[in-house]
Amino acid sequence: MTEEGKLKILMASSEAVPYAKTGGLADVAGALPRALRARGHDVRLVLPYYGCIRKANLPACDTGISVPVTISGRTETARIWESAMDDGTPVSLIRKDGYYDRDELYGTAEGDYHDNAERFCFFSRAVVALAKRMGIAPDIVHCHDWQTGLVCALLKVVERAHPVFAGTGAVFTIHNLAYQGLFWHYDMHLTGLPWNVFTAEGIEFYGKINLLKAGIVYADAITTVSRRYSEEIQGAELGCGLEGLLARRRGDLHGILNGADYRQWDPASDPHLAARYTPDALEGKARCKEDLLRLFGLNLPPGTPLAGMVGRMADQKGYDLLAAALPGLLDAGLALVILGKGEERYHRLLRHLAKGSSGRLGVKIAFDNALAHKIEAGADYYLMPSRYEPCGLNQIYSLRYGTVPIVRAVGGLDDTVSAYAPATGEGNGFKFVPYTAGAFLGAVREALKIFEREPHWTRIRRNAMACDFSWDRSAREYERVYREAILRARGGGRGRGGDRA
Ligand code: ADP
Repeated sequence: MTEEGKLKILMASSEAVPYAKTGGLADVAGALPRALRARGHDVRLVLPYYGCIRKANLPACDTGISVPVTISGRTETARIWESAMDDGTPVSLIRKDGYYDRDELYGTAEGDYHDNAERFCFFSRAVVALAKRMGIAPDIVHCHDWQTGLVCALLKVVERAHPVFAGTGAVFTIHNLAYQGLFWHYDMHLTGLPWNVFTAEGIEFYGKINLLKAGIVYADAITTVSRRYSEEIQGAELGCGLEGLLARRRGDLHGILNGADYRQWDPASDPHLAARYTPDALEGKARCKEDLLRLFGLNLPPGTPLAGMVGRMADQKGYDLLAAALPGLLDAGLALVILGKGEERYHRLLRHLAKGSSGRLGVKIAFDNALAHKIEAGADYYLMPSRYEPCGLNQIYSLRYGTVPIVRAVGGLDDTVSAYAPATGEGNGFKFVPYTAGAFLGAVREALKIFEREPHWTRIRRNAMACDFSWDRSAREYERVYREAILRARGGGRGRGGDRA
């Protein structure tokens, strides 16, 4: 750390915009380095060199540097490629085609790749090897989700005495506690960790290796992506079996809301839209709606309220609730467009629902960033009936696009959406609490009462568009957490375990 307090940060993630994306983690890992760099810090991002990066022709060059990783006496090497984000943030790409040159990042609609333990243990170990090989000596290593949880354990268990990591603070961010990187114990040889950490206090979890737990146990500080979720995961309902550990580490657990990258998500400048618009000139939004209806082939009477949904098709996102509520939603006069990709059973369910909707439900099973932007802009309402939602980005984007969110009051959805009160004209959306079709439908009916009804319709859209979730505020909070982590790593904070039960 320099005298001015400038930090050297090494950030490891399994995805980041614009290189590779399956969900919100990519948005965060693409935007946070930029926000930290804008605040004067020295940040380097490390990613696997996936096939999609090569195919997208993103500029990258071979550094000629190789890093060795020894697995059970066999040495595998990765080649380091160098790229940079458009603000100049350096990006190291770990190239090992046998692991990363595939059609998808983690698996297909049929399931996860069978060698994910090896792929991401290798990646984590290569991150550590890269720092040593390049002599990076970071103040902070910031890891995200199970794919890089092992890095924290390696730093604290294996590399403690290495001069490159003297005083390095490890920060671990949980983007989704439900994905833990659970693998059978025969994979211990992939981790590079000694067997004595395969205990309940270490990385063992009901007889398996848990890579997310590795991050939680060994990081100096832990963050998750909203305040509400940081509380929810300390309870049995959303703690996924790790609630006890998280509650014990609550002094080191911080909820920092994700920001939105308004350079990418702003209707005033969005290149993907049929027309651009601002809070004071909303005419363009009507053109975006026409364009969206055309793309989905929906032929609706003028003035039909239209809702949008974009997201991974997984249990978490509430598609079962949507299916149960759909007849009621259509009866209430709503039309709906959905873009998503994920589990095969949801693909089938949604195609089936679309067929029976008399042309009022449009479904596209794809990952399509341009269409995601068009939905944010062209819809009147945005639906997120999630079972749980660590932060959720689409509701934050929809606010900026004047697309009124209707959400379940959980996690980051509860932290970012406030219920509209016609009496005061305050609020930016609609919320419901019980995970039932009735409660969901109730919120939608409430929301439809103000559709194009003035002054409420103008008021709520203005309130929504005025919300500011810029990254700078979140970056300041990360800075605070980084400093705490460094203090702890250098022995100045609470003793490891001193504040734990
Ligand atoms: P999660 O990380 O749980 O998937 P988030 O709401 O945090 O959900 O972030 C999802 C991000 O991924 C958003 O930027 C969203 O627009 C994008 N996204 C998800 N599914 C798709 C898709 N099928 N096509 C395009 N973008 C998508």
